[in-house]
Amino acid sequence: MSNIDPAEIAKFSELATHWWDPHGEMKSLHDINPLRLHYIDQNSSLKGKKVIDIGCGGGILSESMNQLGADVTGLDMSKEAIQVARLHQHESGARVDYFVSTAEDFATKHPGEFDVVTCLEMLEHVPDPSSIVRACAELAKPGGSVFFSTLNRNMKSYLFAIIGAEYVLNIIPKNTHDYAKFIRPSELSEWARKSGLIVKNMTGLTYHPLNKTYKLCDDISVNYLAYMIKK
Ligand code: SAH
Repeated sequence: MSNIDPAEIAKFSELATHWWDPHGEMKSLHDINPLRLHYIDQNSSLKGKKVIDIGCGGGILSESMNQLGADVTGLDMSKEAIQVARLHQHESGARVDYFVSTAEDFATKHPGEFDVVTCLEMLEHVPDPSSIVRACAELAKPGGSVFFSTLNRNMKSYLFAIIGAEYVLNIIPKNTHDYAKFIRPSELSEWARKSGLIVKNMTGLTYHPLNKTYKLCDDISVNYLAYMIKK
């Protein structure tokens, strides 16, 4: 059984043509990208690194990592998103190698090949996120870095990430997220530990509705990023 939810892939495929519209359906990914790029680069300087971006979608993060001098591979199971990502490089001049593949398949073919593995805003869209964590760990070289971002699961994250973001502020499309698939930092840490990853740091990401900006913060109760090292 493959670790893919076809309804999730269809949802992102439908949105694929809007991927690079900074004011469209993917606006929030564009808005948070400089913050998460900075977090990754600060923890494991990207220049000259071999990087793989799991669930890369249209390539917002992948391209930005390449622009900082990384040699980037991007994987996604949405053919449409990968098509958009490949086309966009002709406009932007970025150079990323894109593949339609699962993390698990790619990891069996390329174990231990990457200095940096990123998997952002993707774990909450798969049936078995622990299997993705394991595959990301397999892809990393010993001593390499692995980054995840996802949504915490509690009353506040339900109110902020679903009611607030999808229904009140309309900053992300309705039905983007399913509360039951949100992941507590303790769960992510446990899967990481079982996969041979050491959690170095977690940081929160919050949205300010009045000035409509995001920032990194200590509060990991809603959106959070995690930085890990492969043993
Ligand atoms: N990581 C990107 C896109 C996040 S959207 C960013 O943060 O900018 C989530 C992406 O995960 C979508 O492009 C979706 O197609 C992809 N995805 C969902 N399930 C997947 C799976 N099992 N394997 C690979 N990609 C998957």
